[in-house]
Amino acid sequence: MTPDKGHTTMDELEEVLSNFGMADDPNWVAVVLFVRNLLPRLSVYTDQKKAEIQHDILAELARCDFSRDHLEAVVAMLDMHIMQTIGALELEEALTQEKRSATELVNEMNMIIGSMQGHGERQNRKLNAFKEDTVGVIQSGGTRSHIVAKVRGMFQELIVEFREEARELQERTQALEHTANFDPLLTELHNRRALDAHVQASVLALRKGQGGPLSLMMIDVDHFKRVNDTFGHQAGDDVLHALARIITAHAIQYQGFAARYGGEELVVAVRNMPLDTAVLKAEALRMDVENYDFRTRTEGRLSEIPLQFTVSIGVAECRPDWDAARLISAADTAMYEAKAHGRNRVNAYRKP
Ligand code: GH3
Ligand code: MG
Ligand code: MG
Repeated sequence: MTPDKGHTTMDELEEVLSNFGMADDPNWVAVVLFVRNLLPRLSVYTDQKKAEIQHDILAELARCDFSRDHLEAVVAMLDMHIMQTIGALELEEALTQEKRSATELVNEMNMIIGSMQGHGERQNRKLNAFKEDTVGVIQSGGTRSHIVAKVRGMFQELIVEFREEARELQERTQALEHTANFDPLLTELHNRRALDAHVQASVLALRKGQGGPLSLMMIDVDHFKRVNDTFGHQAGDDVLHALARIITAHAIQYQGFAARYGGEELVVAVRNMPLDTAVLKAEALRMDVENYDFRTRTEGRLSEIPLQFTVSIGVAECRPDWDAARLISAADTAMYEAKAHGRNRVNAYRKP
């Protein structure tokens, strides 16, 4: 954190937040936003003072105590710094010793506010409202304590305002994260990118001796082209939705990682599960799909006759010299063998 750095990109900010493990708490995000984005713009502080405030707050964050009590202590600390500068140094001097006129003080306020603009329309509006209030208070010759109370109020409002921004940032980050990791059609399933990352991490963990066997199921719809050709692409999509729900319901029971590998090829990766158990789980899944009462929908009405669809599943367990790609291709090979043997079946990769 450098005090003269006025602007913070999302990336940098996210890095700071995740370094401190608090990316999901808007209150703490607000503190970081305040110290990183707003503080550098406050002209009333010397660079040394800014560095001092940032240093103090960083030290508090480094304690990794994200409780409410600690949050209040940190906000009080910021409050104190603000009052030390604006309150004690500027206002007291100006008002009690009358070294500066009210006009100068108003100019000073305008300057501060000008330097704080540009953090979103709502914040600008808040700053402008504050400006009018405060200028009014100063010009009306209010008492020192009255003005100090106003400045304190401003600070609290800004913290609230930054908390709003923090909440929005959090929502944006979550939405981005979801788009990045989940399939756009089968929204309950992870996408290929997330699957690759997950399997790679699992293989690494396995190599380090962390956790038990790692198994992977490759699931492909049988004769899916026929579904599309006979009932239309929308019915095909509906079948995939139904399949995704069945798979998610199964995977959740053993903490499996369910993903869409390709068009109608879905994957479940399961940690701490040997091949034979995974084959049994895959068999239960295959049966549930076969027995699923799926109805096509025409103009909102369900068809009288169910559309039966089946899947072929290949299962493989990761071996010590395999990487993620090898594990996936083994499950894929086993799946194609299941197809060759008549489809609607589970087949394990057992080649030497
Ligand atoms: P097989 O039993 O050998 O797997 O036969 P298949 O007809 O399923 O053959 P294949 O797996 O090669 O073809 C998959 C088809 O799935 C091709 C493609 O048109 C269709 N498909 C892929 N993704 C989607 C999708 O998102 N929605 C729909 N409706 N169809 C899809
Ligand atoms: Mg396929
Ligand atoms: Mg298929």
